[in-house]
Amino acid sequence: MSHADSAATSPSLSGASRPETLRSETLAVHPPHVEIRGSRPLGVPLHQGHVFAFDSADALAEAFTSTDAFMYSRHGNPTVRTLEDAVARLEGGAAGLSFASGMGAVSGVLHGLLGSGGHVVAQTCLYGGTYAVLTDLATRWGVDVTYVSGTDPEEVRAALRPETRLLYLETIANPTTRVSDLPALAAVAGEAGVPVVVDNTFASPLLCRPLHHGADIVIHSATKYLAGHADVLGGVAVFKDPELFRRVRHHTVEQGASTDPFAAWLTLRGMQTLSLRIARQCANAAELGARLEAHPAVAGVRHPALASHPDRAIAERLLPDGGGGVVSVDLVGGREAGRTFVEAVRVASLSVSLGDVKTLVMHPASTSHHQLDAEALAAAGIGPGTVRISVGIEHVEDLWADLEQALTKSS
Ligand code: PLP
Repeated sequence: MSHADSAATSPSLSGASRPETLRSETLAVHPPHVEIRGSRPLGVPLHQGHVFAFDSADALAEAFTSTDAFMYSRHGNPTVRTLEDAVARLEGGAAGLSFASGMGAVSGVLHGLLGSGGHVVAQTCLYGGTYAVLTDLATRWGVDVTYVSGTDPEEVRAALRPETRLLYLETIANPTTRVSDLPALAAVAGEAGVPVVVDNTFASPLLCRPLHHGADIVIHSATKYLAGHADVLGGVAVFKDPELFRRVRHHTVEQGASTDPFAAWLTLRGMQTLSLRIARQCANAAELGARLEAHPAVAGVRHPALASHPDRAIAERLLPDGGGGVVSVDLVGGREAGRTFVEAVRVASLSVSLGDVKTLVMHPASTSHHQLDAEALAAAGIGPGTVRISVGIEHVEDLWADLEQALTKSS
């Protein structure tokens, strides 16, 4: 008897009440489910199926109000849930929520927590897409935004108002690598009952766990360090408070920015090597940062592990295991030097994104932060000659040789 024959006659394979004899057309759309007995898959199973069948109408009705049941993947999927739980556990939160991209997570959290007319306190130097969402919320929804440096608690205290709905920070800012004083700023917001949202993409939960420093929600572009191989888009938010999770989840399910299970599966696969990748990226970045600082074509280098970093004292407390894989370099030759440099690299690639196993270089003023005008760029610390290097896991000497030859061409 073939597997197909056995599927047709076995009630356990095709549902408790299916007829015993089925035609090929019907069998074709009801393949047998493989049940594994006596062992378990070591890799995470991919539940690509988006729709789940029930035997009880009451159970399906209950699934609409439950956050645990699986009935339709926009509301929840076992592989996606595994990712949510995995990131929540790494960050030390109560619950995780996965999104189709990092921007899905940023917008989902902001739209989920804000209503029209509220007030947000946010760090001046933020990822350009986040800045664009805040600008849109200000223009179209009347949400007032006050920008602060991210290092001065008294500045945050002065910016808070009775209608402030959240404080938004990045652990390591994109692309300047400024480090927020999370414990000090979160303490001020906490006294006022204002939730603190931290984009922890640049640090990853291996280098910093913002919930342990007073944050309420952590956001990741999983596209970057979590997944790590430039082959998947994703975002995850982790919540300390189950009530905030429920508010954002409700909004997210309606908005439909859910993660495809295969994207979740790829992210989970990448995360298994996160600790090895990030350790190598931190070491490579610190070494290259130190060498770049001494190069005559370079006006300045920012990496949290360098003694010269403006937030070195904060980084020592917050990032004891490494300053991350991103190095921000200001070239003496300004915009033209920046353009020449990013086109001259041979081992590194001229690409947006970061956190990949390969080294990526880009020019923020004309790409990731093009939404910012000259004044906003200057306030964010991004100069015309600023180049962002997302350091990969290649051999550091090959990377140095590549950067050196590109610097020679650009000077
Ligand atoms: N947050 C940070 C810090 C980022 O750098 C990015 C993208 O570069 C995002 C969020 C958005 O992530 P995604 O591209 O996955 O939407």
